This record gives sequence, structure tokens and C-alpha cells, in this order.
Amino acid sequence: LRAFLVFASLLFSTSAAWAGDAVVRVHVADAAAVRLSGDLAYEGKRIRGDGRDLRVTAAGDNLVVAGDRDPGTVAVDGGGLVAVDGKKYRGALRLFARKGRVQVVNDVPIEQYLASVLGGEMGAAWPEEALKAQAVVARSYALAKAAASKTRPFDVDATVLSQVYKGVAGEAPSTRAAVDDTEGKVLTYGGKIVEAYFHSCCGGRTEDGRALWGGNLAYLSSVKDKYCDFAPDYFWVYRIAPGELGKRVGLGSITAVKVLERAPGGRALRVQFEAGRADKVLDGDAVRRAVGYAKLKSTLFRIAAEGGQYVFKGSGSGHGVGMCQWGARAQAEQGRNYREILKFYFPEADLDRL
Ligand SMILES: [Zn+2]
Repeated sequence: LRAFLVFASLLFSTSAAWAGDAVVRVHVADAAAVRLSGDLAYEGKRIRGDGRDLRVTAAGDNLVVAGDRDPGTVAVDGGGLVAVDGKKYRGALRLFARKGRVQVVNDVPIEQYLASVLGGEMGAAWPEEALKAQAVVARSYALAKAAASKTRPFDVDATVLSQVYKGVAGEAPSTRAAVDDTEGKVLTYGGKIVEAYFHSCCGGRTEDGRALWGGNLAYLSSVKDKYCDFAPDYFWVYRIAPGELGKRVGLGSITAVKVLERAPGGRALRVQFEAGRADKVLDGDAVRRAVGYAKLKSTLFRIAAEGGQYVFKGSGSGHGVGMCQWGARAQAEQGRNYREILKFYFPEADLDRL
């Protein structure tokens, strides 16, 4: 038994060290040219350590650094902060070229990455327990993505495609505290770190992840949420003329619209548009993309014909899967802690420490 305990504690300490050392590879720029500033060094050589900016461009799949054509990847580690087009980042940068464009990847320790993501995705002024819940969700998402991205040049994007990351500008004392207070904590299901999703406001019910995206996402179930009804996008309305709607979805003037199928949480999965004898069926996300993500804030909508227009009456904003941020905020304001908030939005998942 004693030997087993020693072995178990070794295993534990190994994984704990791994979590603390984990680095997230964030794709922070894709541009024809970028400007680097800071105390720069690459491949062991100092470059332009005179405080001036360094311009990097691309010729095909080759980088051009300060006018020198340099094949392969350039790693920049200033030992401090390096700025890309004025945005400051911690950790190291890797630059490479693809088809005439400079790609910049920031290799940043996960806890520093998270302190920035919390500012970008939630806001430094949000309640402490909501920020802590967001820290666990964002940490789980990033580690799950990193485990699945080993053969790709980066793990996550710096935009809403993954999680919004603004480098040092996203950090604040409150976001650093939320990350420190939950250090190494992740959501797991069946012993594996889960891709923990979140969105702005669920509109009263979160969505079943499997119904939207398929796959083995049993921990993303639909829960009723009474907490987010004060959110700015809890209800919204968007009106559009039949001709304009037809143009957006690639048909003539629309004569009928019908939601053919809904997910367990109520979101539109398939929508049929008719224009005379022509018709088209789009999935819910394709409808949002066609009409505009800012106009249709979610797929939790009904569509009615009113006064010669089509009227989308919707609830919430975002995909609706996982944690509802506005609901988490209300729960925190009502005295619930981050463990309770996570259990509410991820009832099947466990909260574990790496
Ligand atoms: Zn909600």
C-alpha cells in the first residue's frame, strides 16, 4: 500500500508540474507585414537591440526580416514583452510565412494566457466568482484544444473563433486573482479535460452541444437558466423585408419561412425558406451567417410574417452551449460560488485539479 501511495503521489506531482508549465500556442496575427518592437533576439542573435522597430514581411512561404530573406520559422524571445503592431505579449513569439502572409504565434504560459482571456471575454469588473468560473472554463477549453492540436502550428486563435486574447492589454488585477485562485482547476468528464464552451446569454435555456455540433459532447447538456433575464440581449427583435431576406439566403423574394427542426434547448436546427416555387433549407448557424451574426444574435428565434416583413423574435446571444456568462454573473451577485456556477452549467462534468 505504501508503495502504491508513493507511486500515486509521484503521478500527481508530475501532472501538476505539467499543468503549471503548460504553454498555449495562440495565433495572434495573420498579416502582409508586422512590426515588432521590444528588446528582440532570435536564434540566439540579438536583432536590432537599439530600441527601433523591426519590420517583418513575407515572400511566398519565406519570411523577410528587416530586408533579409530568412527561410523557416523565426523565434523571438525578448525575455520580456514583445509588441506586435503595438500589442504587447508575454512569453515567446514564433513567426513563419504562408502564401505571402506573416503568421505570428505567441507561446504563452497558460496562467498568463488566461489572465488576458478573462479580460477579453468577460471584463475585469465582473464579480469575482463569475471570473473564477470563467477561468476554469477557459483553462479547460485551452488545454483540451492544445491536446487536440499537436500536429498544427498553433492551438487556438486570439479571436472569438477560440477565445478573445489581447495579450497584456487584457490583464487586470482582478483577472489575475481569479486565475491564481483557481490554479490548475479544470472540468473533466470520464477523466478527460473537456472542451468547455461558453457564450454571452442563453436566453433562458442553454443548448445541447451534441444537437448543434454532434460528436461525443455528453457533458454539454441543456439546462434551464432563470438567472440571465436581465441581460441586454435576453430578448431581441430583427425585422427584414422579404426581398432583402431572399437576397441574403440566395433566393428571390421570400414567400414563406418555417423552422423545420429544433434542438432540445429550442434552437433552430433547420430553417426552410421559400420564394415562389424555389426553396432552400439552411442550418441555424448558416441562417445567422447569411443574415448577419450581429442581427440574429442567436438561433433561439421564432419567425413571423408581420406587416409585410419577416420578424425574427429571439432570445439570448451566442451559440448557447455551456456556461451562460450573464447567468454566471447573476449567480455570483446572488452569492453563489464558482463551484456552484460550474455545477449548474456543466452538471455532468467534474471539477478536478491537475
Ligand atoms: Zn442564461
